[in-house]
Amino acid sequence: MTAQGEHATSTTTADVPRRNWAGNVRYAARAFHRPTSVDELRRLVAGSSRIRAVGSGHSFNRFGDTDGDLVTLAGLPPVVDLDRDRGQVTVSGAMRYGDLARHLHTQGYALANLASLPHISVAGAVATATHGSGQTHGNLASAVAGLELVTADGDVLRVDRDADAFAGMVVGLGALGLVTRVTLDVVPTFELRQFVRLDLDREALDEALGSAYSVSVFTDFRSPRLREVWRKQVADQPPPPADWLGTTAADAPRHPVLGMPPENCTPQLGEPGPWHERLPHFKLGFTPSSGDELQSEYHLPRTAAADALAALDDVAHLIAPVLLVSELRTVAADELWLSPNHQRDSFVLHFTWVDDTAAVLPVVAEVEERLAPFAPRPHWGKVFVTDPAELAARYPRYADFAALLRHLDPTGTFRTELLDRYFPR
Ligand SMILES: Cc1cc2nc3c(=O)[nH]c(=O)nc-3n(C[C@H](O)[C@H](O)[C@H](O)COP(=O)(O)OP(=O)(O)OC[C@H]3O[C@@H](n4cnc5c(N)ncnc54)[C@H](O)[C@@H]3O)c2cc1C
Repeated sequence: MTAQGEHATSTTTADVPRRNWAGNVRYAARAFHRPTSVDELRRLVAGSSRIRAVGSGHSFNRFGDTDGDLVTLAGLPPVVDLDRDRGQVTVSGAMRYGDLARHLHTQGYALANLASLPHISVAGAVATATHGSGQTHGNLASAVAGLELVTADGDVLRVDRDADAFAGMVVGLGALGLVTRVTLDVVPTFELRQFVRLDLDREALDEALGSAYSVSVFTDFRSPRLREVWRKQVADQPPPPADWLGTTAADAPRHPVLGMPPENCTPQLGEPGPWHERLPHFKLGFTPSSGDELQSEYHLPRTAAADALAALDDVAHLIAPVLLVSELRTVAADELWLSPNHQRDSFVLHFTWVDDTAAVLPVVAEVEERLAPFAPRPHWGKVFVTDPAELAARYPRYADFAALLRHLDPTGTFRTELLDRYFPR
């Protein structure tokens, strides 16, 4: 099925975002664009010396910020093309996961995993290796079976899993071309139930993280104990017993950030529901998370979880005052060159910080120093201060990606200041 919905017939720029969701990045672009056809996009790229795409703007750093042209692909004719024989769906890059998920569910299909919020665009999330949680599930980029890009010279390039360098192109940081379509693997639709348990002993973390389809643990570094376990389990898995791992059951819905309204969150208390209304923590129609925040996140070897948390104990007194909440998750290994999960089953340590860059950056540096022995790979869409040479050493295919960048974008059309810092020309 190909859905060609209504779309604007002329380029308007009013609804191209001028800043990111968190407000810590005001885009420096000299012009904003919203093309309504791929041909218009191709002409735009071919005529521009510096251009970037913006998705839903939920990233926290300047990888996607350009001083040239900033373009949203949300005005292109929407595409949702489900191929039941191949078990794949091809969608517009600008489509939000939440909208795709609803559609897939009505067709009897699902994605194996989702991030904590459904508001993000497919192309933007894939470009930064966005992930959910689950020891047996890869990040969202690992479900990509094909890409369609407008490359620097304005040509359309289609690649699938058999293509040379495909594993280098998926987590592309928006730097290899503008992604107009993405093909994703799908699975039959399924139901989940979400149980929240309180006050987990750190000793039980590994068991808790492996106890269900997707598990997130929330903590605040104010105590060595872990505040909440959000267990998203397949609907027919029995509920956790009353004394599960020494925790107690939450008796009312919770929000990960204390004091925020639980109505913004997907149903808990074991109520069964479709995958896309349980895997994200936040509902599509509501503002996700606190809205007034910064985020950082580090992917570590899964076996390092306990040692990594212990390494942060010395700086917990620095973390806690600038922290809204911390989330602990797992992601399965993959082969994508710039995936933080490249050839590494991962334990993922996330920080939602207060919205105060000056106060947060020194703490981010402290956290990175303590985690350095575990070779942390930062989330590409969040705040980090890692030295470029150190980061390069943590990715076996980093140099290959740099070569791919030079090959696909020899004149630097998609280059940004931050990209140049991490991948010098
Ligand atoms: C409240 C909140 C919760 C979050 N939860 C999670 C989570 O659970 N897990 C997780 O891993 N991350 C999470 N994130 C981070 C977020 O998923 C990533 O930053 C993701 O990149 C956001 O997608 P986007 O569409 O907003 O991308 P944008 O921020 O708009 O863009 C990200 C990058 O992709 C590029 N890009 C965008 N569209 C295209 C395109 N069509 N073609 C080429 N390049 C493109 C941009 O140039 C930029 O470099 C969260 C963020 C917020 C604000």
